[in-house]
Amino acid sequence: MSRVFEPGDRVLLVDNRRRRHLVVLEPGGQFHTHAGIIEHDGVIGRADGSTVRTTRGARLTAWRPTLSEYVLEMPRGAQVIYPKDIGPILMLADVFPGARILESGVGSGALTNALLRAVGPTGSVTGYEIREDFAKRAVQNVHGFLGTDVPLDVQVRDVYEGIDEREVDRVILDLPEPWRVVKHAADALVPGGFLLAYLPTILQVGRLREELVSAPFALIETLEVLHRAWHVEGQSIRPDHRMVAHTGFLTVARRLADEPQSTSGGE
Ligand code: SAH
Repeated sequence: MSRVFEPGDRVLLVDNRRRRHLVVLEPGGQFHTHAGIIEHDGVIGRADGSTVRTTRGARLTAWRPTLSEYVLEMPRGAQVIYPKDIGPILMLADVFPGARILESGVGSGALTNALLRAVGPTGSVTGYEIREDFAKRAVQNVHGFLGTDVPLDVQVRDVYEGIDEREVDRVILDLPEPWRVVKHAADALVPGGFLLAYLPTILQVGRLREELVSAPFALIETLEVLHRAWHVEGQSIRPDHRMVAHTGFLTVARRLADEPQSTSGGE
């Protein structure tokens, strides 16, 4: 996207201490910082990565927000899956352009945004979310980043009661009892399709895996993603003092094909 900032666009303003502010541009609008005011009109018409000045002469840089930045700033109802896990989820579940995805719960729509971007306009995401308020918020959060023309269908319903969709390529779960979805996922998935679940505790993982091994799934794997940022300044080059020690475990499995029933009756 090489176009310049336009009214209605989101812009991330970053000050010299790397503080970030997400602003929606409006003609005549103003953004107040501790170091003076940024006129929105001074950003509109400029390119991504431009330096803009406050009324007191301080410099900020103006950027088009990435999906990670948007996810961390967007309004949340439910706890979101963080970018450090979202990236690996797309790869582990091998989410491809054109894929048909069943996602549950939808929560705040952080993962939904990433799934939609990965499947593209020829794919689709059907979301089952039990809470109507979360479903609405999630759709707003998707529209706020990807626009309203997206192949997304969010339904207010309980995935534990079943999945109506058939021939889906991926079932992606972020809810407390994914083992209650394993049989429904087996019915919904194409042969070779993936089930992926994000779970905060390892006892939940154990329960899920017990269910997976007694269902038509194989190649079951569980992992966690550790993300350690580094501080790099002059001679001081070392890991940051703080890191997020834990978010959740990722478990992935693939749907076996149903074997044709043998009619020979043996040798
Ligand atoms: N992955 C989401 C966050 C999901 S939070 C994100 O990145 O934004 C878990 C969600 O699962 C909650 O919104 C909760 O309401 C929903 N949920 C819990 N049980 C459910 C069920 N049985 N069926 C559908 N949704 C459910």
